Amino acid sequence: MEEEYQVASVEQQAQRYWQEHQSFKVKENLSKEKFYCLCMFPYPSGQLHMGHVRNYTIGDVIARYQRMLGKEVLQPMGWDAFGLPAENAALKHQVSPAAWTHQNIDQMRAQFKRLGFAYDWSRELKTCDPDYYRWEQWLFTRLYRKGLAYKKNATVNWDPVDQTVLANEQVVDGRGWRSGALVERREISQWFIKITDYAEELLRDLDKLEGWPQQVITMQRNWIGFSKGVSVHFKVVDSKQNLQVYTTRPDTLMGVTYIAIAAEHPLAQQQAADHPELKAFIESCANTQVSEAALATMEKKGMVTGLVAIHPLTQEPLPIWVANFVLMDYGSGAIMSVPAHDQRDFEFAKAYDLTIKTVIQPPAGEPWDYSQGAYTEPGILINSGEFDQLGSAQACEMIAQKLENQGKGEQQTHYRLRDWGVSRQRYWGTPIPIIHCPDCGPVAVPDDQLPVRLPEDVTLTEPGSPLANIPEFYHTTCPKCGQPATRETDTFDTFVESSWYYTRYACPDQTKSMLDDRTNYWAPVDQYVGGIEHAVMHLLYARFFHKLLRDENLVNSNEPFINLLTQGMVLKDGAKMSKSKGNVVAPLPLIEKYGADTVRLFIIFASPPDQSLEWSDSAVEGCHRFLKRLWQFSHTQQTSIMQLNKSDATVHFNWTNTTTETQKYRHTIHQILNQANKDISRLQLNTVVSAAMKLLNYLQKIPTETADYPYLIHEGLTFLLSILAPITPHICHALWSELAFANTIIHSKWPRAAHEALKISEVEWVIQVNGKKRATIVAAPDADEENLLQLVHQNEKAQHALQEMTILKCIRVPGKLLNIVAR
Ligand SMILES: [Zn+2]
Repeated sequence: MEEEYQVASVEQQAQRYWQEHQSFKVKENLSKEKFYCLCMFPYPSGQLHMGHVRNYTIGDVIARYQRMLGKEVLQPMGWDAFGLPAENAALKHQVSPAAWTHQNIDQMRAQFKRLGFAYDWSRELKTCDPDYYRWEQWLFTRLYRKGLAYKKNATVNWDPVDQTVLANEQVVDGRGWRSGALVERREISQWFIKITDYAEELLRDLDKLEGWPQQVITMQRNWIGFSKGVSVHFKVVDSKQNLQVYTTRPDTLMGVTYIAIAAEHPLAQQQAADHPELKAFIESCANTQVSEAALATMEKKGMVTGLVAIHPLTQEPLPIWVANFVLMDYGSGAIMSVPAHDQRDFEFAKAYDLTIKTVIQPPAGEPWDYSQGAYTEPGILINSGEFDQLGSAQACEMIAQKLENQGKGEQQTHYRLRDWGVSRQRYWGTPIPIIHCPDCGPVAVPDDQLPVRLPEDVTLTEPGSPLANIPEFYHTTCPKCGQPATRETDTFDTFVESSWYYTRYACPDQTKSMLDDRTNYWAPVDQYVGGIEHAVMHLLYARFFHKLLRDENLVNSNEPFINLLTQGMVLKDGAKMSKSKGNVVAPLPLIEKYGADTVRLFIIFASPPDQSLEWSDSAVEGCHRFLKRLWQFSHTQQTSIMQLNKSDATVHFNWTNTTTETQKYRHTIHQILNQANKDISRLQLNTVVSAAMKLLNYLQKIPTETADYPYLIHEGLTFLLSILAPITPHICHALWSELAFANTIIHSKWPRAAHEALKISEVEWVIQVNGKKRATIVAAPDADEENLLQLVHQNEKAQHALQEMTILKCIRVPGKLLNIVAR
């Protein structure tokens, strides 16, 4: 073996070995326990960044560890290949989005291979592949027939210059991110999938996700947003229409001082006909964004309609306003405004000088200081007639009851969750498999006409989708009546592809059906790893799709991901790495300089997987030095270890016949291994590296003249290489083979500490008196108080410290310390 660590050749040889032996290709094996380890698949931007390296290294360490535990481990990789960046790049560089995407995939695949990830590349999938998206189209046609997919008008952000719909994140300060034009709110017809039908189950099953971070569960719970409330009816003067307003705070009903309706509300539209000013205001509302975040922070504007509603209990007249922050999409497009107890209503009332009526008082009875804003917590009712002095909870019930008795309202439960709008007016996505017929309406594309292929050789010359300008694509015939018809030219939101990809990895070559029995062997995913930014959308949609697949009898489980790990960010100088901050560390040059193992080791060592990681060049250097030291130490031990390995002597070696000193060394080696085992089983991966470092230091310190030294080192190195193998697989592969250990390290078993080595007959106990160290004694690690006190009484120093004192009690830390409280 080489005396020095030759990174490049070590890594090339290991990778070549894995490739030639197809080491990570797996098949269903009913005689073994399976483990499905999956990292969220990347968008193929073409450039690997440090966030990727972290995400995929963590997943790889888990997969390799599980494999050493003797499980059949599936770890696949693929590409979330549709999406807007390809269209933007295509516009910029005049290439087709398809060509750009495929080139990026090739580039990133090579980078992944360079990092030595243990992927079953035979299962690689790309969501832009018609063999993949055809099954998504197939599923959608089934959802459509079941009534779980439907079309309706919805409000979108419209860029009037680029003539395109914008995603919320493409609206910057109310303007289109490319054109800079003021974004308009527009109603267009779009496809939806009925996730609301599953809201209750999605909420309920969160309780079963014991392997998920609490934070993610909470975010999903809030997103689904279950509430109990009342739908209150407000009569409108001189109108046959009633306004239906949903509120979760009926206890504040007596504090309503005005009603706010959406610009699109029929009552507003009706009033605008004779009021040019109101009409102009309603039109200006079209320029506001539709995201909830934007609605919460934008300037609240409104105009009085001249219409008056009647309070259902007091009969008081309430002015009706049009307000820019009320959306038709949410609830009924009308809200009851309680400015004293809702911050948004409060700001609006202040801006337009509307009445603010206090009806809830803080429970302590202190008057609320309205210069701080609205009082939004529950409390005690005041100014509420017969409900005065009631607590909020009781008042909610009584007011709801009274409304119901008078036919002026109903108790309801609501979900904040809305149906999932999956239509995108984009080119680079899965075509929605629907044909529009003038007579039959929307018709699902029949199975034998799937996939509906996206035309790939297009050159984009302007933003927006060219599909509506490609007659070869949209001209077709109606599958029902045979007359000329047109295809849907919208494509799916790319979140649709990422909602079921994990099931398809189990059977990527299946051409007859979406999934097969193999999916039920591998799914659900045992360990899913990805960023917290996907806590809501991706993870909720995937859970939803899993239930849809179950209800189509395609999977037999209820949830897709048993355990979830959300890895922390990679920071440099305390900030997230980003081009705009100029603090990006590119992984490739580092891999070139130090090797993949050093980068992997640093990434794992620098922080626990779920915490953010601060980049440090010197720590990377330190990791590299550690690997060099590991190599050099192995080199010095090579002859004796090889001899032992060739003779099988270690198998028959009897540790009980060796010296106490040797047994003490062995005890520590096994203790370190035991700690590493505990840490890795709870994914505390950084301290597994600490254990490895500690172990190497310890082995280097054992005097060579110690009895049975070669055996100690042999065992120690076996443990050391094994616990490092998932983290730095290349160097461990090389050293394992250079030292002539049996087989290859990826086929070896994860080591366990020997019970008899962990057990030690006596340890040193620290004896404290009233918290001060007074003596040390030698006793069994599990010695009880009585035992210990006997020894304390025989110890001169301890006796001296306890002179003329009475022992009140003892505090015992097993194997370490006895603190005697005495007076
Ligand atoms: Zn037809």
